[in-house]
Amino acid sequence: MSWGLANLKHAMREPGCPLCRLQREAEKRYLDNLLWENVNDPATREQWAAGLGFCPRHAWQLQRLEARRYGDGLGNAILYEDLLQRVISALEALAREAAGSPPPFYRRLARSFRPGSSSDTEDPDRLPGLQGRQRCRVCRLGQETAQAYAEWLIEGLEETDVRARYETSDGLCLPHLRMALVRAQDRAPGVFVWLATDANRRLQRLLGNLREYIRKHDWNYRDETMSPEERRAWIRAVAFFAGEVESDGSLDDRSG
Ligand SMILES: [Zn+2]
Ligand SMILES: [Zn+2]
Repeated sequence: MSWGLANLKHAMREPGCPLCRLQREAEKRYLDNLLWENVNDPATREQWAAGLGFCPRHAWQLQRLEARRYGDGLGNAILYEDLLQRVISALEALAREAAGSPPPFYRRLARSFRPGSSSDTEDPDRLPGLQGRQRCRVCRLGQETAQAYAEWLIEGLEETDVRARYETSDGLCLPHLRMALVRAQDRAPGVFVWLATDANRRLQRLLGNLREYIRKHDWNYRDETMSPEERRAWIRAVAFFAGEVESDGSLDDRSG
C-alpha cells in the first residue's frame, strides 16, 4: 500500500472530511517549517513576496502559531519587514507616475483601450505592486496536497476494504467531493458512481437530521429531545459546504 493511501486510511478514522484533514496538516507543516527554519530561505522568501504575504486565513494562522508556540513574533516581523519595504517602494512609484501623468480624461481613455481583464473572479482594485502576483503559497500547497490525495482515494476506492473504511468516515466535504468526482469521471466510472451514491446517502441523512433540528425548535415539539446527530446537523451542514476549518492543528473541537 502506498504511503498516500496509508495516510488517507488513517485520516478516515478521524472526525471530519479526510481530505480537509490532510490538507490542513500539510498547510500547518509548511507554516511550522517556515517559522522553524525557513524565514531567511531565499526560495521561501520569493514565494512570500510573490503572494505579498499569505491569504487572510493563513496570515493569521501564522501569527497565532508564532505567538502561541514561541511567545514571540520575530519570524513574522522579519517577513513583514520585507513586504513593507516592497509596498512603500510601490506606493512611491505609483505616486511618481501619477504626478507626471496626463489629465484624467486621457487616462480613462487609455484605460478603456487596454486589453480587458475584468471578470467576476478578478479583484477590480488592482494597482502595480499593491497585490500579490501569485495566490497564497500555503493555499496552493494545500490544494496540491488535496489533489494528490484525491488521486489516491480514487485508486483506493476500487478496493472493498477502502470502501468499507470510507463508509465509516465522515465523508468528503463538497469542495473535495467535487475534486474527487472530477478525477474519477473519466478514469474510474465505477468509483464515480459509488462515491456519488455514498454522498447522496450521507446527504439524505444530514437533511433528515437538519429537518428534525428545525422541527424540534417549534414550541409544540419542545419536549422531544434531540439526538446528538440532530444537534450537530447544522454544524455538519456548514462543514459540508465550506470544508472543515482548523483550529490550529485540530479539526476536533467543533462545538455543537
Ligand atoms: Zn474537505
Ligand atoms: Zn492561504
